Amino acid sequence: MTHYYISTTLKAMQTNQRTEHLVRLRTLKVNSTLQASNSKWSLNSIIDLINLPFNDLLFQAQQIHRTHFNANEVQLSTLLSIKTGGCPEDCAYCPQSAHYETDVQASKILDTEEVKAAAQEAKKNGASRFCMGAAWREPKDRDIEKVVELIKVVKELDMEACCTLGMLSAQHAEQLKNAGLDYYNHNLDTTPESYADIITTRVYQERLDTLENVRNAGVHVCSGGIVGMGESRQERAGLIHQLANLEPYPESVPINNLVQVEGTPLYGTKELDPLEFVRTIAVARITMPKARVRLSAGRQNMNEATQALCFMAGANSIFYGDKLLTTGNPDWDRDRSLLEKLNIRTV
Ligand code: SF4
Repeated sequence: MTHYYISTTLKAMQTNQRTEHLVRLRTLKVNSTLQASNSKWSLNSIIDLINLPFNDLLFQAQQIHRTHFNANEVQLSTLLSIKTGGCPEDCAYCPQSAHYETDVQASKILDTEEVKAAAQEAKKNGASRFCMGAAWREPKDRDIEKVVELIKVVKELDMEACCTLGMLSAQHAEQLKNAGLDYYNHNLDTTPESYADIITTRVYQERLDTLENVRNAGVHVCSGGIVGMGESRQERAGLIHQLANLEPYPESVPINNLVQVEGTPLYGTKELDPLEFVRTIAVARITMPKARVRLSAGRQNMNEATQALCFMAGANSIFYGDKLLTTGNPDWDRDRSLLEKLNIRTV
């Protein structure tokens, strides 16, 4: 099936030799840039990629996607906020920050039975991974004890367990690993150069340190970023440059489109052109070929055609369920309907 698709695509291209020639030249250019930088992605090579004509970019992304994955499958993760609001950090996009006045009410950590019920519901609806998020700068020892209990509940349901709890020490990462944690999410958010424009209560290196602690503990890394925060295309390339050059790059790469929430500093930011979002997905796919690239926050305002283009560009994971941490997401039925229209199976 895969070979059939590629050969018919190539055949179609042969009818337009000039186009084929240009595509080949661009591919060679990208490949030679890669080789010149000893298999690491240079920023310029990623800028070259993101600037490709849209169809050429999607063609490359789709080829790479099909080399490593079944292009008609997506993985489903469901996200639950286990401790909402009141966060001491000042992420300019986040309604859970205590620095901003939003509609989000701070709450205590959920009890085990509530989390178990939510995980069971997610499993019943087809999710394979259950992600638990807490609005902490970093968990305390007693928080980790509670989360260990919750991870065990998820693992007993035979689901993958993922957490996003803020910064993590090496010791806490070990404890979570021992409880059975499969993935830890910690997004780089943006480029090092723009970081202070978005968050002032921590520095980029602290993000990298947490990712290293997670990796050293043997937990899979989930790390991506947010676009639509007023950044340039070059800055989006810069974010992918950071992620793709992690050693190794993350197994899971969520690409979020900013969900603008009233009361946060980024509310009112000019919305990102959806095709720019698709380009970011494609470049993530090309530079991190074996990662699950997740179409994450922002899907609720994305039409079906844009989501279909994201899948074509190499996205192969979504957050599934009608709520993310505090913002909306398409409901189960709407997603099922879209996936059926596209003949996409779920894993
Ligand atoms: S994104 Fe996370 S760390 Fe930042 S304010 Fe929100 S909950 Fe806190």
